[in-house]
Amino acid sequence: MPVSLFSEASQRLEEAAKHVSISSDTIERLKYPKSSLTVSVPVRMDSGELKIFQGYRVRYNDMRGPTKGGIRYHPNVTLDEVTSLAFWMTFKCAVLNLPFGGAKGGIAVDAKQLSRFELEHLSRRYIDAIADFIGPDVDIPAPDMYTNQMIMGWMMHEYSVIQRKIIPAVITGKPVAMGGSLGRETATSQGAFYVLQSMMRKMNGEPRNTTVAIQGFGNAAAPLAEMLHNAGYKVVAVSDSRGAIYAKQGLDIPSVKKFKEETTNLKALYCQDSVCNFMEHNVITNEELLELDVDILVPAALENVITEDNAERVKARFILEVANGPTTPEADEILEKRKIRVIPDILANAGGVTVSYFEWVQNRAGLYWPFDEVNTKLHQKMNQESDHIWAIHDAKIVSLRTAAYIHALRRIEEAVNVRGTKEYFGEKE
Ligand code: NAD
Repeated sequence: MPVSLFSEASQRLEEAAKHVSISSDTIERLKYPKSSLTVSVPVRMDSGELKIFQGYRVRYNDMRGPTKGGIRYHPNVTLDEVTSLAFWMTFKCAVLNLPFGGAKGGIAVDAKQLSRFELEHLSRRYIDAIADFIGPDVDIPAPDMYTNQMIMGWMMHEYSVIQRKIIPAVITGKPVAMGGSLGRETATSQGAFYVLQSMMRKMNGEPRNTTVAIQGFGNAAAPLAEMLHNAGYKVVAVSDSRGAIYAKQGLDIPSVKKFKEETTNLKALYCQDSVCNFMEHNVITNEELLELDVDILVPAALENVITEDNAERVKARFILEVANGPTTPEADEILEKRKIRVIPDILANAGGVTVSYFEWVQNRAGLYWPFDEVNTKLHQKMNQESDHIWAIHDAKIVSLRTAAYIHALRRIEEAVNVRGTKEYFGEKE
């Protein structure tokens, strides 16, 4: 039987709970999602055929505020995966001290096979199906794998049509012209870059000539590759679903990015070409990329790519988890024994949700911030929380991941305890 991603995700909670005194109420609350919705999404295809797609939305925990989390389009989307991602969002929002709980959504679909019209239909029908489950004070979606600005714009519009008024704050990651925030498109990468810089300072690392391999070249990975390249890091490998390219002397990232952008197919919204067609470089597999002899490995595509099967062969000095859940708990143990530091997903990729929060604030205030203001606020937050997590990691001698969970758990516990309900049943003085 395949291992449940959610049971793996919960192991992180159990591990962190060993190192800190957390009330049983909090742990019990965090074991179960608040509510889960499974929907059928009917789409009339260009051929005239009717197809039904399976969609999900899970609101994991709202003790700290309305729930927040992206929507993923991928053939492997299941309720188990969406629940795990919603669980991680709960912790991620707490790590960054955002006034949100965690949620996630998804549709099991190979979006690259759809025409642009079919994609718009699917996105609007999904919002029809979950409209009663979301809202600017209840649950606020955003982009994730194979969803982007344009899709968020369609979704916000559909929700507004249903409600008979314009409600930009129902969804984040929208186009700027529809109430999106400046800096949101690159926020995940920018946040990961700030976290990496902060950790490099703590470990006395020097960017120049530090080699990096990045798995993925999508919304989260491509701008990060460019930021690292511009900061003097040597990005030696990047990949996509069809394979990886590698150049020992470092890739010319702006050219690879331009190539991907130029080959974005107009039929739908996705790049139909592969980085592997960028022929000047050695083509390797995604598996080989993970085992390259580099200083920093950045998994930025899928979950569960570093497992007990390959963790012994990972040669990187540390791992920056831009994807959600790329390392299994078994691999974590191996990496820890081998002294390979992992900067965990709930910190490393939290720049996206942080600027999503800024977008939500701007939508509700009706006041929009310049790009520099967004980035300055993001920088402050990522630095501040990286410092907190490093301090816990140092003081308790735990991994950065466990430190991040401890940090989040303390904040979630505060929200549980201030409700005071346990006191009714406590010892009477
Ligand atoms: P995306 O759809 O823009 O890009 C996904 C990338 O992964 C593409 O380059 C694709 O070719 C590659 N890929 C797909 N299947 C693969 C495979 N089997 N092997 C190797 N590569 C494969 O998605 P994204 O938004 O960049 O998300 C990537 C990861 O980052 C996901 O885990 C997502 O949850 C996480 N993340 C994204 C954001 C965000 O704001 N975009 C925020 C937080 C976390």
